Amino acid sequence: MSYARVLCVGLVGVAGHLVEVEADLSTGLPAVVLTGLPDTALNEARDRVRAAVVNSGREWPNRRITVNLLPAALPKHGSGFDLAIAAALLAGAGELPSAPLDGVVLLGELGLDGAVRPVRGVLPMVAAAARAGITRVVVPLDNAREATVVPGVTVRAVDSLQRLVEYVRGTGPLLDPPPAPPAPPPAGPDLADVAGQLIARYALEIAAAGGHHLALFGPPGAGKTMLAERLPSILPELDDEAALEVTALQSIAGLLPPDGRLVRRPPFQAPHHSASLAALVGGGTGLGRPGALSLAHRGVLFLDEVPEMARATLQALRQPLESGRVVLSRARGTTEYPARAQLVVAANPCPCASPAGDHACGCSPAVRRRYLGRLSGPLLDRVDIKITVLPLTAVQLMGASEPAEPSAAVAARVARARSAAAARWSAGGWRVNAEVPGPHLRRPPWRLPVRDTRILHQALDRGTLSARGFDRILRLAWTICDLDGRDRPNAGDVGEAYQLRMGELLERTA
Ligand SMILES: [Zn+2]
Repeated sequence: MSYARVLCVGLVGVAGHLVEVEADLSTGLPAVVLTGLPDTALNEARDRVRAAVVNSGREWPNRRITVNLLPAALPKHGSGFDLAIAAALLAGAGELPSAPLDGVVLLGELGLDGAVRPVRGVLPMVAAAARAGITRVVVPLDNAREATVVPGVTVRAVDSLQRLVEYVRGTGPLLDPPPAPPAPPPAGPDLADVAGQLIARYALEIAAAGGHHLALFGPPGAGKTMLAERLPSILPELDDEAALEVTALQSIAGLLPPDGRLVRRPPFQAPHHSASLAALVGGGTGLGRPGALSLAHRGVLFLDEVPEMARATLQALRQPLESGRVVLSRARGTTEYPARAQLVVAANPCPCASPAGDHACGCSPAVRRRYLGRLSGPLLDRVDIKITVLPLTAVQLMGASEPAEPSAAVAARVARARSAAAARWSAGGWRVNAEVPGPHLRRPPWRLPVRDTRILHQALDRGTLSARGFDRILRLAWTICDLDGRDRPNAGDVGEAYQLRMGELLERTA
């Protein structure tokens, strides 16, 4: 026999596609030809596969070898095809029977010594195989845990090409995935560590309950980062669908811990303000990797010192934040990653970032206005809640005798408010108030009586409020009312929402 066919999976973004690896061996000048749109990494596969085969003690077939990856039109990249190429080649050369590999997907990179190395993106690859009706996969041992989270697929692992060869010949077993580690990973930082800051804590709770973007202003040391990184701790755990999406993205980025659990906590990403565009929204070589925005999908993207960010970078965030996805266009094709993240931006009040804020710095009001003005427009317009965070005074710090409320207690209120909102908007398919389109809120039966929204109409007439801002305040008012366990927002909720949107709520100093 001089022909064999083995299955594999190629990834484009988070979408996996079944790939057939064909090997044909014919008489002629000994050579290896790879076809089917391989990139450089795939060409290197030729050398890795040859070394791995020889170093596993196999004879390298001295014939003309053609390896073809189908479908040809699918862009392919990475080293995950090595194992399938080696198996197809050995089966084509008659070194292996091909029947045991029928309907089995093989994934893995080969080392020159014949070891099978882990690859990125095994979870979305196995999920794609399952969707295509595949029930058996063989993956690198180090990726086996993450592959087992896909239901309906039997996962076996290999640590070397030699082990696969012995299995196919019926002379040795494959490996079982390692057992799941006993304890779940520790939870992130907790709100119990945040003393005082009642307004900021409340704003965080509203942001979590309604899915609203949040802006925190204040001098360095006021606790903006501390607050932002605790937002995931009061968000609900990810449901099955979201957990698979988030885990798949971390798998592609090579960030998944080896225990290979489904990620259940909403992710938190805090790229530095000097981060490149590729690091932020995605990009890089080949078809492009997910950026921080996609790694924050279904979680929180925290941008600290946001006025320091390049204008082009801020501009690039706009469209993905609106559509919930990043589209990377490359010469070799288009890759798409999900990017539905909740945004928290933070800024110092002025460029000198003096810790005492108002008092010690010499920045003129014009300098301060210009500094924060860099934020305005595209980004700040999408932020529902703006608050100022001030450092605790000694009196406040010493006076905080009661321990602060822990995240679990806040998360319980957030969960109640979210389920009320989800039930109300179920007909439209919106899960949180921030997703509800403005016109829907301004029409019966959800329109609020004018006596309750008078403050907004006056601001509209004065020109201090935009139509977009009007809708954002309505959404916030619904969230405030949901947290309070009532059916409909009243004038008080609307007033509070107005203050949050306009940035008028200040921590009281007492
Ligand atoms: Zn200053």
